[in-house]
Amino acid sequence: MASQTPALPQSYAPGANSIFSDQSGFFSLDSNVPGLSKVILNQLNMKDYGEYRAAVEGKSKGVLFRNYKEMFQKMEETFKFCTGCNRLPEHLTEGQTLKRCVKCLNVYYCAKDCQKKDWPHHKKVCKILRLVAIDRLVEWLIFTGDLPIPTQKWSRSAADVKSWDDWLPIQEDLPQSLEKIISSANMATLWKNVSRTRPDVDDLRQSLWRIQSEFLSRVLTVGMAIQHFALDPYSKPLTVHLVGVSHNETMGARVTDYDELSHMFSGHQGIEIVMVGPEVVDGPIVRPPLRAFGPKHKVYISAYKSLYHQFWEDVIEKGDAAKPDIVVGFHPGFHANQGLVEGWLPTLLLLRDYNIPSFFTMYSEMELKYSLEILLELEVHIIDSGPNPFTSQKPEQVQACPNKPPVYCNSHYVQFQGLLPQQD
Ligand SMILES: [Zn+2]
Ligand SMILES: [Zn+2]
Repeated sequence: MASQTPALPQSYAPGANSIFSDQSGFFSLDSNVPGLSKVILNQLNMKDYGEYRAAVEGKSKGVLFRNYKEMFQKMEETFKFCTGCNRLPEHLTEGQTLKRCVKCLNVYYCAKDCQKKDWPHHKKVCKILRLVAIDRLVEWLIFTGDLPIPTQKWSRSAADVKSWDDWLPIQEDLPQSLEKIISSANMATLWKNVSRTRPDVDDLRQSLWRIQSEFLSRVLTVGMAIQHFALDPYSKPLTVHLVGVSHNETMGARVTDYDELSHMFSGHQGIEIVMVGPEVVDGPIVRPPLRAFGPKHKVYISAYKSLYHQFWEDVIEKGDAAKPDIVVGFHPGFHANQGLVEGWLPTLLLLRDYNIPSFFTMYSEMELKYSLEILLELEVHIIDSGPNPFTSQKPEQVQACPNKPPVYCNSHYVQFQGLLPQQD
């Protein structure tokens, strides 16, 4: 029987100089389900974390599968451990197999007894985990190019579109586009190769929309941030810096990913999006930031691999990139101590001391609360905060703790600028 204490090779453990979010993610996987990170690497045919990173950053050929069936199977294996007692398949006694909860088809149990004991916890999330299990397969349609769905010009002004409920009616073609994907060849290929039956049309329709909403949530949040600070994209070009971008946001990113801003502010003077973060993945968006104004009426994306304060020192101060009109960060997670001290503190102080309009999002109300405390400690002037009307609709499961309530990308936001006004 293998040891129950997480035996992390040196390269997995969050080192003193690590600010990589997925590296600490790997660590938390193992502290919840000992050995899970190893299972994931095995499934991906990788020997260690370094190889995983190289693949993520596009430096190696990456994950090779013989066919789709194998790919989906390996992906599913990473979810195979008993939700009750955390045992992995290799820790089961002979003749024992992990069985899936028939309601959600998402979590596994080693025995009826384990499932029974876990039900009081699991029943609170079983319904929503059923959706997560569908989404994680349907998400494959991003890699095939079926998602995200192209959007339409806005028939209303940006100021009138305050939430998804306002945005959806101006997207008249959306229902038709969803039906087209549902009946597409790729959708058929997907369900032919996974180990479960195809959900009904309504389930698929809603899943496609949830994934689409996660993609658009980022763009619409940037647009909302521009309006919150009353910046006017019609009177002058705008430079938007996205700080702390992760490999998720830059892997497979296309130069058209923020085009929705041109629908939102039709006829604007040019908007530049500069994505900055230590996890930026090579791709078409990795090109130098603009020194002068970009093309009118167009959104121009560039990306730079660095911590933000270093980018400021190395690029902006040398005049090689424009200063930002606004800085946006998607779940920086600076409430987690380690990240704050090593990665975010210099950036937060820079944003504060240069009086830069800043807008950050969080995964949950709890994370917002902790983030506000940190910003207050730093004497940052908080202008506004609360639930984001353009939150992602797609629930995110905490993989190693499936019974934890799922969270949503960009569910909350905080708007801040400069130093807290001094009271006397
Ligand atoms: Zn068990
Ligand atoms: Zn369930």
